[in-house]
Amino acid sequence: MPLKNRFAEMLPEITAWRRDFHANPELLFDVHRTADTVADKLREFGCDEVVTGIGRTGVVGIIKGREDGRTIGLRADMDALPILEATGKPYASQNAGKMHACGHDGHTSMLLGAAKYLAETRNFAGTAVVIFQPAEEGGGGGREMCEDGLMFRFGIEEVYGMHNWPGIPAGKFAIRPGGFFAATDQFEIIIHGRGGHAAKPHETTDPIVTASHVVTALQTIASRSVDPVHQVVVSVTSIESSSKAFNVIPEKVTMKGTFRTLDKDVRHQTEERIKAVATQSAAALGAVAEVKIHHGYPVMVNADENTVYAADVARSLTGQCDEAPLIMGGEDFAYMLEERPGAYILVGNGDSAPVHHPEYDFNDEIIPAGCSWFVGMVEARLPLRA
Ligand SMILES: [Zn+2]
Ligand SMILES: [Zn+2]
Repeated sequence: MPLKNRFAEMLPEITAWRRDFHANPELLFDVHRTADTVADKLREFGCDEVVTGIGRTGVVGIIKGREDGRTIGLRADMDALPILEATGKPYASQNAGKMHACGHDGHTSMLLGAAKYLAETRNFAGTAVVIFQPAEEGGGGGREMCEDGLMFRFGIEEVYGMHNWPGIPAGKFAIRPGGFFAATDQFEIIIHGRGGHAAKPHETTDPIVTASHVVTALQTIASRSVDPVHQVVVSVTSIESSSKAFNVIPEKVTMKGTFRTLDKDVRHQTEERIKAVATQSAAALGAVAEVKIHHGYPVMVNADENTVYAADVARSLTGQCDEAPLIMGGEDFAYMLEERPGAYILVGNGDSAPVHHPEYDFNDEIIPAGCSWFVGMVEARLPLRA
């Protein structure tokens, strides 16, 4: 595949974009500078249409190939994290307390590089839609773009995304079919008891003892309820009593936690078990448990066929594509993959600090691989007939 040579030539230019985004990180939907820069570049590249304001601050570019055909979407994320940067790089964040610590500066730059190439060459039959979304880090920007009609409006039939991954060799690819990134849901359990003197427990309904039983019983969801061939994590991460005294049994205990699953049915089962375990354990001890579930991103599921297409393109570029590990973190590309078949691939960032770490930096050497894969997906899925 000759793509890599072209992107080796474009590397200094794309690296300069990446470092400019890195120096100017923005959070969640507040990515105005980034989105304006992206839209300006897409217009400059000669995209057939550039649409802004989808999913609040999302940007879409339309590039038509030299022949008619189907439409595929390529997606990158634009937002940074509320972290104080500690890389000491000359292009480090100029916005103290904000940092591109997940490499979305790199994703945006690689997709821009691919857009420039696609607009120049147009060696495909159909339409490439480049999607730049805000608010991946917890805001659900992908969901908002879908709710704004992203898929219908541009006729997108398949959609592909990519994330850099520290620990995978630089520029090497890894992917897996099926549930890949976890659903990230939260729960809150409030145990209502009856408070009183710590020396007269028989006159109270102790919510601390009840909460302790609930925490222990929640462990049976992973060990006794969910089929052991499936993955599930249930973690209680906070327990707060309404009493701060040594000699007062409180009225109330509030617990918080998260549960992570990689399958829709297991997600539903886990939620139901949390509610039943909490309310019924509390009832057995004479207390009342109130359970609130806050849904996060759904499970991100790679479609089987599209995973094969994505791996084939990766293999054509680098000679290999490894099986990726399951990731218990969330990814809001899940919403796009709920609407259309597609796949999400990891590209190695080499031996860097992990993502979300103050010393993390996107590895500019992997830009040619990432750009080539985006372009490769378009050319492979929308081949010219003539
Ligand atoms: Zn992240
Ligand atoms: Zn990320």
